[in-house]
Amino acid sequence: MKTLKSYVEGQWVAGQGEGRPLHNPTTEEVIAEASTEGIDLGAAVNFARKRGGTALREMTFAERGQMIGAVSKAIHSIRDELLDLARINGGNTRGDAKFDIDGCTGTLMYYAKLGESLGDRRFLTEPDSQQLTRSPRLVGQHIWVPREGVAAHINAFNFPAWGFGEKAAVAWLAGMPVITKPATSTAMVTERLMQVVVESGALPDGAVSLITGSVGDLLDHLGGQDTLAFTGSSDTAAAIRAGRGPVAESVQVNVEADSLNGAVLGADVDPDDEAYDLFLREVVKDMTQKAGQKCTAIRRILVPETLMDRVCDDLSDQVKGMPTGDPSLREVKVGPLATASQLRDIRAGVERLMGCTETILGDGGRGNLVGIENDKGYFMSPVLLRASNPRVEAVHADEVFGPVATVLPYNGEANEAIEAIRLGGGGLVSSIYTDDADFARAMVMGIAPYHGRLTIGSSRVAEHSPGPGTVLPMMVHGGPGRAGGGEELGGERGLHFYMQRTAVQGFRPWLEKMLG
Ligand code: NAP
Repeated sequence: MKTLKSYVEGQWVAGQGEGRPLHNPTTEEVIAEASTEGIDLGAAVNFARKRGGTALREMTFAERGQMIGAVSKAIHSIRDELLDLARINGGNTRGDAKFDIDGCTGTLMYYAKLGESLGDRRFLTEPDSQQLTRSPRLVGQHIWVPREGVAAHINAFNFPAWGFGEKAAVAWLAGMPVITKPATSTAMVTERLMQVVVESGALPDGAVSLITGSVGDLLDHLGGQDTLAFTGSSDTAAAIRAGRGPVAESVQVNVEADSLNGAVLGADVDPDDEAYDLFLREVVKDMTQKAGQKCTAIRRILVPETLMDRVCDDLSDQVKGMPTGDPSLREVKVGPLATASQLRDIRAGVERLMGCTETILGDGGRGNLVGIENDKGYFMSPVLLRASNPRVEAVHADEVFGPVATVLPYNGEANEAIEAIRLGGGGLVSSIYTDDADFARAMVMGIAPYHGRLTIGSSRVAEHSPGPGTVLPMMVHGGPGRAGGGEELGGERGLHFYMQRTAVQGFRPWLEKMLG
């Protein structure tokens, strides 16, 4: 059996003792193990800070951008191998795996280009030079400089490649070294891609470290110049926030957590409209892509009462056309869930939802699987539910992290849809499907404070929409409340998490010379 290694202090090392097992979710076979026992994570943090941080801060944005571009190319060079590993260790269909791996290389490439455009500078200047007193000699200016610590990244199981790339690209461009820890259950993809990144020689020593296995005492070594970006469940996020680093040392923490993303169909939309087709397409894609294990997946579908029956029938027909089964088969569109515990949690969640809704499709079981002849694998066929009113509590309270969504009726007025969406307690993204600009405006104003991102799907953009489930590097990703209160990406904005904003006050000619 394969033993996954960590990459610390410029060396590949395996932890001691019995590691945690990683499974093939299609066969349940144990395919690898990972442990961090006995690895000196304090030394790893110091090495990254001293060697990696110093080297990165000496580089200009353009040089860091070139480095990030080389990392993207190195990962892309083993794309097919990574797609296979994502199937074996994550249960991904080929399409699911591409979403993760191409999403990783694409995001890295976006930040590579941003670095090029930021040019031969090493820090950012805000365009706000101001005279501070009556004298024109005294001015103030805000600058952003890289923090002198390490960027610790802890990721969820569902995006072992993109989760690494979307965080690392931003930290590196800002000038910080990265210590990345993928979720243990799907870490094979991250370990393999890191091997080619290290072998490529694109990064200076210490710019990247990888922890495969439990987080150990990593977080105890973080201090005031370090940052911690976490993606995962709200429970783990709460434990992290209560830790010594964030509480006593003001370690900067960013959290991307749960989200009950909504999709709202406007009352103006007729089933013959392009906006209606777009709505169906995007809901079905979000329910089934990565077997619904996407933080941005649509969980709550708000539909005008008058269209409820039609929408439930159309969605059910389309979801039935997405077979569940062996992810290596081309005709299969929904693979297994990633782990046995995921399957257990989702089954329990479906049971809770079924207690207060009607079932349109699925029963929480395996259904008719394509290409699976035995009872192995963590499979669940998609489940579509229907609530009797927009306020059914469990639908707004439980994030069931699988191929599961609920259709809720509303009276067609923006106010009622807004009230229902807000019951989710804050989310990453919601989508609005309408050709009525006034309805779109009312929805955006009503739910924007509760979201990090909103997409408006109208007939005019139907052909071009990537869907709410696709996180784009130039737009922010994150959300308030239940979603963790964090914000990542968003082009240059994302760099600020890894930099210190400092107000510099002094003699105008000196500041002009010093800051440019
Ligand atoms: P999780 O159980 O919270 O684990 C997330 C990460 O935290 C893993 O790397 C895990 O390591 C690590 N971890 C566990 N205990 C820890 C501790 N005490 N201190 C520090 N790190 C610890 O979440 P998950 O099951 O992997 O992911 C599913 C959840 O993530 C869902 O709720 C989903 O909504 C959310 N998610 C959010 C986003 C977003 O962008 N907002 C994206 C994807 C997923 P081990 O694997 O080694 O235990």
